Amino acid sequence: MILLQEMKKQCKKSETILLGVHLSIQGGLYKAIDRAYELKCSVLQLFTHNPRQWAVSPVKEDDPVLFQQKRGALLVAGHTSYLINLASGNKEVQEKSISLFSKELERAELFSLPYVILHPGSTGESKEREALQLFTHNLDMAIGKSRNRKTIVLLETTAGQKGSIGYRFEHLRDITGYSSFQEKLGVCFDTCHVFAAGYDIRNEESYNRTMDIFHRIIGIDRLCFFHLNDALNPLGSNKDRHTHIGKGKIGNEAFRLIMNDRRFEGTGKCIETPKGDGTALDRKNLARLRKMVEG
Ligand SMILES: [Zn+2]
Repeated sequence: MILLQEMKKQCKKSETILLGVHLSIQGGLYKAIDRAYELKCSVLQLFTHNPRQWAVSPVKEDDPVLFQQKRGALLVAGHTSYLINLASGNKEVQEKSISLFSKELERAELFSLPYVILHPGSTGESKEREALQLFTHNLDMAIGKSRNRKTIVLLETTAGQKGSIGYRFEHLRDITGYSSFQEKLGVCFDTCHVFAAGYDIRNEESYNRTMDIFHRIIGIDRLCFFHLNDALNPLGSNKDRHTHIGKGKIGNEAFRLIMNDRRFEGTGKCIETPKGDGTALDRKNLARLRKMVEG
């Protein structure tokens, strides 16, 4: 079984800026690779199937081969379907979520994706502590069921919308602590979500403070991936609304600090900013981030 730190080492390519974007898989997963290279990305995030459907259509026989042929040095991370809610109070949704997440892990294994990014879900009626335990129990069920050996599951920091879990660093620490698959779990740090959850990163002092808190509670070693998004709403708003880099309430400085933080040189960074038509907006956001890299 490949464990967290080993995977981090494998994904580390410090000679390049590890930066990219979430792209469509229309026409097959390998098509997203072409799109990523057109945008000069070294990182790609994708859904491994239609994320709005519980049903997963089978993988075409040639797809994984074509995918590996085209992939090159691209770091590709999967993002799970938004339907998945492993902390749901509804038993049927829980069962469907376990089944779908395990299928997505099988698919990640088939395409050799190092990371799959998962939102910790929302609780409905249950209390936070119980929801964290329920989430972890169902997470472990899905990982066990999938028999996935290679992929690391990244728990994404959340904005703290009503009923959700994962918006305090302590939540992610507890999930990792309760899980029987501790060494298969890492964290995806979403700048918009973290800021909306009340952790300031807007200047050097607040950025360092937040990273120190993260390190104290979770450990910086578990941070495997970034979602770089500015926030439409102010600090602590608990609203999950992304906007363009430097154009929201976070501002340029936080992104400059992340792009130049030596600790994260080998860590994949991916934008999830609003797209509009075509690729013009993605290109603009990527260029803005690339320009921030010093020396
Ligand atoms: Zn995100």
